[in-house]
Amino acid sequence: MPYRYVIKGTGFYSKSPDSFAVLENHLFCVDNDGTLATCITPGTAAYEETRDTAKTDGSLIVLKEGQFLLPGFVDTHVHAPQWAQTGKALDAKLPVWLNKYTFPLEAAYADLDFAETVYRDLVQTLLANGTTTAQYFGSVHLEPNKLLADLCADAGQRAFVGKVVMDLPAQCPDYCRDKSAEQALADTEAFLRYTADINKQTVQDIVGVVTPRFIPACSDDALYGLGELAVKYDAPVQSHCSESDWEHDHVLARTGISDTKAHLRYGLLTKRTVLAHSVHLSDDDAELYRKHGASIAHSPLSNAFFAGAVCPVKKRLDQGIRVSLATDLSAGYTPSMFDAMRQAIVSSRILASGTDYRLPAERRGVSDSDLDFRQAFYMATVGGAEALRIRSGKLETGYNFDAFIFDFNVLQSNSRYYEFDNLADVLQKIVLTGQRQNIAALWIQGNAVSLH
Ligand SMILES: [Zn+2]
Repeated sequence: MPYRYVIKGTGFYSKSPDSFAVLENHLFCVDNDGTLATCITPGTAAYEETRDTAKTDGSLIVLKEGQFLLPGFVDTHVHAPQWAQTGKALDAKLPVWLNKYTFPLEAAYADLDFAETVYRDLVQTLLANGTTTAQYFGSVHLEPNKLLADLCADAGQRAFVGKVVMDLPAQCPDYCRDKSAEQALADTEAFLRYTADINKQTVQDIVGVVTPRFIPACSDDALYGLGELAVKYDAPVQSHCSESDWEHDHVLARTGISDTKAHLRYGLLTKRTVLAHSVHLSDDDAELYRKHGASIAHSPLSNAFFAGAVCPVKKRLDQGIRVSLATDLSAGYTPSMFDAMRQAIVSSRILASGTDYRLPAERRGVSDSDLDFRQAFYMATVGGAEALRIRSGKLETGYNFDAFIFDFNVLQSNSRYYEFDNLADVLQKIVLTGQRQNIAALWIQGNAVSLH
């Protein structure tokens, strides 16, 4: 059977939080519709025939020594407008960060020329960092969010995009607020329809997401209305939940129930819900995530600045909750999912060991909390894909071919000496040392995407 192209080489993908597959010197056969039609093992008759056919018709791509095939990253929490302030103002407390820096910046995207400049650069930067799928918070105004969805469609990125809803005067400044709950709902509905139209004309997914900023910023009318829109359009939902002590306590004081239970009450805790942070969940809250199929967007770098605690990811994975990984630009200061994986590992190890040297070692940390490269790789790929309910994240038959070539040989690589390692060690090196310059080629839904 003729394939669109065939890649010959060694690939890795995560099978579960604790295990991964190594496909050594396989043929990865990609169909015209952008799915991985089959992976053929060496030493079989089909292998030689497929390889020779592809070679003859010019559709064989052979990985060089030191090149490996990996699934693309899925970043489940990115604030697109905050790209312009990445690396700035993280010495400020959260209220200052929001009111002095973030809200004025987000409001500036009403200027569509400004929006186009920054969003085009952001999408291209994420692609160059290996992020084949991103879930974005946009801004409060409708039009720049449409532009962001258009730019993702044009660049070939698989994207989930939300028009941010924030309508409560007590929490949101006039210049960065929905004028009313009715307006917020009307704009959200218009955006969901707009993205549904784009999606029909785009090979990869472009999906509109119901996006209350977080419960403290939204009225009850807006929140209940968004829950109804999620049902009406079978739309995914994204928001923040129990990020910090302040948020967790604020929602409890306002509603009398936990942040998680409040999302459930408003109709916003569904199997298509991804909630950033989820650091301060009780075990009952976590059980509600599991029961309703909601997912966590773990944002370890931003948690280090604003959460006041470390999300117990290992515990949540062991409970059977879907956990994805996120950069959380710009509360996280890097667009790299390599960096996010590393921070997830580091934060978990600090949680496990504890920090107060005055305590005896056995009382210093939270036992069985540490993550390694296996769980980090899982969250960055499969965890994200499962959270967004897309068939990506694995190099398996029938999956969308969203993948990149990792190259140890590039100039200025920090990843070295793969030739001395077994393949499991190679994957660990990729997770712990990889950078954007190691990404030599990238495909989304089978299409080669420009990295520049
Ligand atoms: Zn966020």
